[in-house]
Amino acid sequence: MSAIVAIVGRPNVGKSTLFNRLIKRREAIVDAVSGVTRDRHYGKSDWNGKEFSLIDTGGYVTGSDDIFEQEIDKQVELAIDEADAIIFVVDVESGITGMDEEVAQLLRQAEKPVFLAVNKVDTALRQADAVEFYSLGLGEYYTISSINGSGTGELLDALVETLPEKEEKNEDDLPRFAVVGRPNAGKSSFINALLGEDRFIVTDIAGTTRDSTDTKYNRFGFDFNLVDTAGIRRKSKVKEDLEFYSVMRSVRAIEYADVCLLVIDATRGFEGQDLNIFWLAERNKKGIVILVNKWDLVEKETNTTRDFEKVIRKQIEPFTNVPIVFMSALTKQRIYKAIETAVKVYENRNNRISTSKLNDVMLPIIENTPPPSVKGKYIKIKFCTQLPTPTPQFAFFANLPQYVKDAYRRFIENKLRENFDFEGVPIQIYFRKK
Ligand code: GDP
Ligand code: GDP
Repeated sequence: MSAIVAIVGRPNVGKSTLFNRLIKRREAIVDAVSGVTRDRHYGKSDWNGKEFSLIDTGGYVTGSDDIFEQEIDKQVELAIDEADAIIFVVDVESGITGMDEEVAQLLRQAEKPVFLAVNKVDTALRQADAVEFYSLGLGEYYTISSINGSGTGELLDALVETLPEKEEKNEDDLPRFAVVGRPNAGKSSFINALLGEDRFIVTDIAGTTRDSTDTKYNRFGFDFNLVDTAGIRRKSKVKEDLEFYSVMRSVRAIEYADVCLLVIDATRGFEGQDLNIFWLAERNKKGIVILVNKWDLVEKETNTTRDFEKVIRKQIEPFTNVPIVFMSALTKQRIYKAIETAVKVYENRNNRISTSKLNDVMLPIIENTPPPSVKGKYIKIKFCTQLPTPTPQFAFFANLPQYVKDAYRRFIENKLRENFDFEGVPIQIYFRKK
């Protein structure tokens, strides 16, 4: 997993401009191509070889300044809880405001590295104006211009210096499951149903972020690690049902997991927040199982399950090859099935197809339906192989890989999924020069 960096600050200081500058360009392109509406406030970045996740906390509040004023304490509190480091953005044009002081006060108490970024220092002339921000009591500051990029290198140098080294896989080879979802979906009820009330011991290790997030379990004959679900065990008092909070709380657990069990509330349907968490898991290449919880509360007619499933699959397009389990944490209906399915997805994620088998299956399909020619040029795919990566990734070697369109990539993905079992697992497909 990679470290988590949160960008905080009041509206209009340039947080999203900075965020967009820092996230990987590659990722933005991929998103544009797939046409999928993604969470634009969460992304990956790296600097000096260290990868980290970046969260623009401001992006989650779309209301007025008034609303923000009420929310800012909670936002900053959550950022302090969940992030490994915090970038606090202020605006040299407006100078220090009351809200800046309020944020600074919270951050001064945080036992996390805080980087004060004085933004909109577009010219050397403004450099001098930044001095007043010393009075926020956060020590050294970094003058940056998110618009032209100046100063961001120094900021990143200092930032990644403080980030923990990338953690490798845990010692045992057990699947790591994270139970995620919006507040009140039934995550803790599910975990309690699974483990028995007394076995789920809530511990609170104050001030630590790298607390051992794994707890080993053996249930129904399966061995697995349950990743700490931030929403259940963290010390934050924030309980609101806002998009930002559920994403913020899910990030760490998702990054740490192999498979995410996304719990949704059947009485509320599949909504924006659920989708955000879904894409968060997908983007991190994690296995996913959707658990439609509180199924006991739903009045059932002949096609209720089928219709419900259809609605969900429509929303998660194009990644629809995901198992959906209808369950009840209350009556314990299908909680075994939920774990069994998660184990299967874990296995699918580790699925390795031999090169000969892959070519035997895929080359005839490609021969039958080759990529459409572009500007009179024929694209020939001659060979494919699964890459030796921790998650399923495939390379298809072609004479003109740059001409292969996204539609064909999806066609190939569908064929791979039809012929091999990658249910619940995001897969990557690359076209490379032969
Ligand atoms: P957020 O509300 O904190 O996310 O702020 P935005 O990123 O939306 O930026 C607010 C405004 O400040 C926009 O008009 C940006 O173009 C502008 N802005 C952001 N960064 C800079 C900068 O480095 N220099 C200047 N001059 N303007 C900036
Ligand atoms: P969390 O915030 O996601 O951990 O949600 P909780 O586990 O605290 O559950 C929220 C509420 O939903 C509680 O009142 C639970 O008793 C209730 N709940 C959870 N699962 C079920 C279920 O399967 N059926 C019903 N009827 N209620 C449930």
